[in-house]
Amino acid sequence: MYWENVRQQIKGLDCIEIGGPTELFSNLEHNSMLYDVIQSIDGINIFEDNPFQDINNKEYTPYGSLKGILFNIDAAGIESASTLNKKYSVVLSAHVLEHIANPIRAITSWKNLLKDHGFLLIIVPEKSHCFDINREYTQFSHILDDYNNQTDEADLSHLVEIKNKSAFPPRFFNLAQDNYKARVLHHHVYNLETLRETCEYCGFKTLYSFNNEKNKLQNIYLGQLKGWDA
Ligand SMILES: [Zn+2]
Repeated sequence: MYWENVRQQIKGLDCIEIGGPTELFSNLEHNSMLYDVIQSIDGINIFEDNPFQDINNKEYTPYGSLKGILFNIDAAGIESASTLNKKYSVVLSAHVLEHIANPIRAITSWKNLLKDHGFLLIIVPEKSHCFDINREYTQFSHILDDYNNQTDEADLSHLVEIKNKSAFPPRFFNLAQDNYKARVLHHHVYNLETLRETCEYCGFKTLYSFNNEKNKLQNIYLGQLKGWDA
């Protein structure tokens, strides 16, 4: 039910997706179909080729006739991509935020992409349905520390915990030694509360925050950029 509300909110809008394309948005069976109702989409991806996607051109064609531009930018901090400032009504990002060492820095920079009162849709994995199951949920205070300490994306301070507590796929551990390049680690483990607190700190008003009842791996957040009148 909640997802239908999200769909209605985003329907007909111009979007930019960070770290896609996303199967979740293109396949009905995940209960999070989205690409079919949006008006347009561009993409941001850090790599031309990365361990998760096969992207080798400058077009972004995630679904059907949707065809946008793919920008190869490090989304952990896109402060310098000023040509994209205030160009979009929606920022989409699924299964990306947990790979970012300094989430507040990232989301704060994503805000620059948004028009006034634009929307932010973030999906992160719920640990009880993935290999992070034995790790503790990250507290918002830690996320804030990472911001205040200017933690950078080469940070490996969570690696010991991941090695001890996570069922992180072994084939990724070699890549994790140079995580700045590979970005495979889940630095943080989000529940809905930490996700919401993080986005609200960055200036978003929460519209929906829920676990997808038909696909419980997905913790979903939809917020709207606060304006001067919010
Ligand atoms: Zn951290």
